[in-house]
Amino acid sequence: MSIVFIGLGSNMQQPRQQLLDARCALEQHPQIALLAVSSLYQSRAMTLPGSQPQADYINGVIKLQTELTPEALLDVLQSIENQQGRERNERWGARTLDLDILLFDDLSLQTERLILPHTGIAERNFVLYPLQQIAPDLRIPGQGQVSELAANVSSEGIELLGDFA
Ligand code: ATP
Ligand code: CA
Ligand code: CA
Repeated sequence: MSIVFIGLGSNMQQPRQQLLDARCALEQHPQIALLAVSSLYQSRAMTLPGSQPQADYINGVIKLQTELTPEALLDVLQSIENQQGRERNERWGARTLDLDILLFDDLSLQTERLILPHTGIAERNFVLYPLQQIAPDLRIPGQGQVSELAANVSSEGIELLGDFA
């Protein structure tokens, strides 16, 4: 059994409901058990220079236990994204649902499809704040402890909304 942290984000078509639906889909998967759920946050979109302005995101983090391999879990996450109408256009474009594997046990790997730990954890307040709520003592391989990383990231553009509900 592996312990995994998933980052969830949405900024289209009722983002809060998108996250609730994704949580439900994960909960119902026979090889996944949810262990903890963060609060929800609202955050300003990360955009590439010159791209269209985007609506704010709703973000959260879920801790789960699974017997799936990292690649098989990524398949499950991408099929949930697709079921919820995810279209893959430009990088960091607006989306109905984004599910990233933040950490998979203490694995560090880099393949064509999967980078672990997920890129950018240490710079993203919308990942670190919810992650800190459910795993402050967690160490990100090669980067440090979640509570320290969260204390060092700017709080610009992020707001606590309340329960994942
Ligand atoms: P970012 O990865 O910077 O948050 P993004 O979430 O917008 O950007 P996507 O378009 O959702 O990027 O995903 C692009 C590809 O990233 C996916 O097809 C997937 O193969 C790959 N990927 C690599 N590492 C991971 C990971 N840890 N979790 C999810 N996808 C990953
Ligand atoms: Ca992402
Ligand atoms: Ca993604």
